[in-house]
Amino acid sequence: MYRTQHCNALRAADIDRPATLAGWVHSRRDHGGVIFIDLRDREGLTQVVFRPEENAEVAQAAHHLRDEDVIQVAGRVALRLPGTENPKLATGDVELVPSSLTILNRAEVLPFPLDGEVNEDLRLTYRYFDLRRPQLTRNLRLRHRVTKATRDYLDGQGFLEIETPILSKSTPEGARDFLVPSRLLPGQFYALPQAPQQYKQLLMVGGVEKYFQIAKCFRDEDLRADRQPEFTQIDIEASFVRPDDIYALTEGMLASIFQAARGLEVLTPFPRLTYREAVGTFGSDKPDRRFGMQLADFTDEFRESAFKLFRGIIENGGVVKAINAKGFAGITIGQVDEMTAIAKTFGAKGLAFIKIENGEWKSPIVKFFSEAEKSALQTKLALEEGDLIFFGSDKWDIACEVLGRLRLRVAEIQGLTKDSEQLDFLWVTDFPLLQFDAAENKWNAVHHPFTRPKAEDLPLLDEKRYGEMRAEAYDVVLNGVEIGGGSIRIHEPELQAKMFAVLGVNEEDQQIMFGHLLRAFRLGAPPHGGIALGLDRLVMLICGEESIREVMAFPKNNRGQDLMSQSPSAADARQLRDLGIRLADPIMTRVPGRPKWRALHVIPDRVRPILPTLHQPGADGILSHVDPFRFGEFVSSQQPIEDAVLPFPRGLGFPSDEAFQSG
Ligand code: ASP
Repeated sequence: MYRTQHCNALRAADIDRPATLAGWVHSRRDHGGVIFIDLRDREGLTQVVFRPEENAEVAQAAHHLRDEDVIQVAGRVALRLPGTENPKLATGDVELVPSSLTILNRAEVLPFPLDGEVNEDLRLTYRYFDLRRPQLTRNLRLRHRVTKATRDYLDGQGFLEIETPILSKSTPEGARDFLVPSRLLPGQFYALPQAPQQYKQLLMVGGVEKYFQIAKCFRDEDLRADRQPEFTQIDIEASFVRPDDIYALTEGMLASIFQAARGLEVLTPFPRLTYREAVGTFGSDKPDRRFGMQLADFTDEFRESAFKLFRGIIENGGVVKAINAKGFAGITIGQVDEMTAIAKTFGAKGLAFIKIENGEWKSPIVKFFSEAEKSALQTKLALEEGDLIFFGSDKWDIACEVLGRLRLRVAEIQGLTKDSEQLDFLWVTDFPLLQFDAAENKWNAVHHPFTRPKAEDLPLLDEKRYGEMRAEAYDVVLNGVEIGGGSIRIHEPELQAKMFAVLGVNEEDQQIMFGHLLRAFRLGAPPHGGIALGLDRLVMLICGEESIREVMAFPKNNRGQDLMSQSPSAADARQLRDLGIRLADPIMTRVPGRPKWRALHVIPDRVRPILPTLHQPGADGILSHVDPFRFGEFVSSQQPIEDAVLPFPRGLGFPSDEAFQSG
């Protein structure tokens, strides 16, 4: 037996009992020859004292212990001397006085101190070490509590946990796929699932009725703090359900998750807002309602206004909306610039605002306002001394989004949700079904192509009034963060084919991409619907963390790399040959002024004609034409970055980006 208990177990009641502990040397202090060790394991800390007068040999060995050595100590439990107790530790009344010390393993020089602020790349490089931080241990435990509560709850509701393939076929969820080459069928590729969407629907066709999975999803997207190339969803699908069934199920599940993980009572049912209400009132489809500052509408009041800007916008079908940033009249010039920049980023041409200061309305536009207009603003915005009005006047969606973004930023500056313990859950329903993408000149699904239009909006489909159609789709939001979304699905083959056609997928491609689904729907597909919750994000909120990387055991960094195992990494030539894959030759390049070199894969036929125009910096820093012979040598040598013989600064030497693909 390695240990009789863990390091958070011993109490005053254990005095004089024998005990054996094992764990890591958390810290070592030498007080005039007496060595104090905080011994740590997953559960906590226990103090171990080595006194030379009690056991000279063991005390001598303890002198050589270093932080993070793994040891086993056996001895007897003693009360700490009066005045030396540590009330912060559960084991703080006692200490272990060892009669034996076994070094199970040594730790070499540590990459960083476990209790300090450390650069994240370094933490991720040594993740197995970083995981010893109590904070991360706690996060992983909470994550376990969440998945366990999820499984227990859904099991209780009759749901079956079913795994679906990872090597699968592309399902459009709006992101790029990760592809996996097939060796047995050269030239063909699996796609890693962006979500198990089609499989879970096919399980409904298979009569499973109630499915769930703690599912890995893969999306090849640019990364942000709360995105990872692979992440986990609590994925759910059920047959013979209406949105209300999914709402009640999800609410019950979230209530049991918060109870299990944090001992918190979640109030159900959650309030509901339609998409139009959420965006119209809060300027967001995932509103943070823990503070007010709601958008008020003044379109009617300004329809005949002497202020031409507003009147003109309204005449063109736009709206005038405003928020009251309470107590924000003291806004600095820097903040005005920042707010204007935010407004412009989200499509506004400028930002109009009025300060209420010393009983006066201060703004160059006020002189155009009638008394009636001012009194409408006064009443609807409940204006007081020190307030500030921001206007959003534009097309409805732009005006709403701009004010929604300003609202969030003001709340952040004013710390309105700081230290808030409130859990504001809500449903946002009736999302638009389709959205026009001007750049691609086509309609895209707002949720995904399998989402059902609302029954009353179905006639709009034949009338081609796609922009007005609403979906039977819903998101669940917590404190301004979307934690999940889903929909009732299309289960009729004709309607599904029609939807694909609206999305620009012709009949032939429908067969290639979705033939299996359309065939399945012809064999008696039940009405069905579901939802998926982002597990990482949910756990992040439960843990009070800012990044999902803090709640994943082995996350990737923001370039999609696993710094610990150095993946992705080059494949060896044999593997590639087996897969029938040949890489374009690599070439090193970098953005001028940046230190990092990057491998680009040359497309040889395209690069040859431009070879004479390529330049290279010589030892003297002067650019000269690339020697075509050495260029060939470089290209075929595929040298690692450090050994690059002919670095070609991007932008200096390459006249054409088209000749290269990023490697
Ligand atoms: N598969 C969807 C998603 O990943 C969720 C759903 O519709 O159930 O967003």
